[in-house]
Amino acid sequence: MDFIKQEDALYNLTAEDFMISSEKVAHVQLNNPLEHALLILLKSGYSAVPVLDSKYRLKGTIGKGSILNETLGIERFEMENLSTIKVESIMDTNIPRLRKSANFFECLTILINHSFICIVDENGFFDGIVTRRAILKQLNQYFYLNKDVFKMS
Ligand code: AMP
Repeated sequence: MDFIKQEDALYNLTAEDFMISSEKVAHVQLNNPLEHALLILLKSGYSAVPVLDSKYRLKGTIGKGSILNETLGIERFEMENLSTIKVESIMDTNIPRLRKSANFFECLTILINHSFICIVDENGFFDGIVTRRAILKQLNQYFYLNKDVFKMS
């Protein structure tokens, strides 16, 4: 009879173990114009990034889709909106957020419907993000390490 090794168990992991820390996360600020946010998104290749205030507190997220939506006029693209509208006025504020101490399964549940989760401290300061990629990597490693238990070849 095989057993899942305690140290390999997913329930031992917390968000801190697999998050991307804040200094490695691309972000924009509340008062940035949309053109700056679009540049960051296009250059980084990410579909959405966190929005922070000047003290590094998490305020929301912003994605390519919602920025492009602001340029849609009735007969043409209104590109001038990119320089006049600020991130703050169109960012998504209804986003999930967790603490570093959140367990693996809390992260997994949220990542079914979101491509990343923002991690904040008790005062709302931004600590980093947990991505779908990171959680899938942990799951893959877990199944691989316990392949005998799961009768995988
Ligand atoms: P992934 O699971 O790696 O595809 O990442 C999911 C999403 O998380 C990406 O589409 C981005 O919106 C966001 N993301 C991942 N890595 C970063 C990063 N270093 N900085 C900002 N956003 C990121």
